[in-house]
Amino acid sequence: MKSLVIRLVVFDADMTLWDHFDVSSLKLPFKRVDENSLVDAKGASFSLFNGIRELLQELKKMRIMVALATWNKPEHVSEAIHLLEMEQFFTSVESEFHSGKHLLIKKILSKLSKEGIQVKPGEILYVDDRNIHLRDIRDTVGKVAFLQMWKDVKAPYEILAYLQRKGITRASGKIISPKKA
Ligand SMILES: [Mg+2]
Repeated sequence: MKSLVIRLVVFDADMTLWDHFDVSSLKLPFKRVDENSLVDAKGASFSLFNGIRELLQELKKMRIMVALATWNKPEHVSEAIHLLEMEQFFTSVESEFHSGKHLLIKKILSKLSKEGIQVKPGEILYVDDRNIHLRDIRDTVGKVAFLQMWKDVKAPYEILAYLQRKGITRASGKIISPKKA
């Protein structure tokens, strides 16, 4: 079996990291109500799914880079990530209000490349609750590994189990460390 080396995990946000279908529809400003939950200006709340923070902490320990590629208004996502103190986990947060997720992943890779880090498509794990972007991503970025959240994996820790099954305990090579919290 060909060994798999994952150096970069690219996450979707809505219904993958947090339990809201479309945070762009919420009204800024957001306010933090507990470790993993925010409330918008009209009182609508949303939360990170159980186990997401632990998953991101574990990936960080494994020196696996983590990026966000989300079809959302950038100000909504940056406020959520900031208030939840999640900047510490992401080497790159790409949030644009269109469906071209492959373009966001290309941006992530080109930013890494400018830092001298070449990540091959086969070294990327893409995690999303929907598979609608996968074809464009595989056509333009290349053959990334994909896990559909809540279908291929039923809980965040199962992503770690997937990596462990593939023999990945720690990434090697240069990485970009995320900003300090
Ligand atoms: Mg989603």
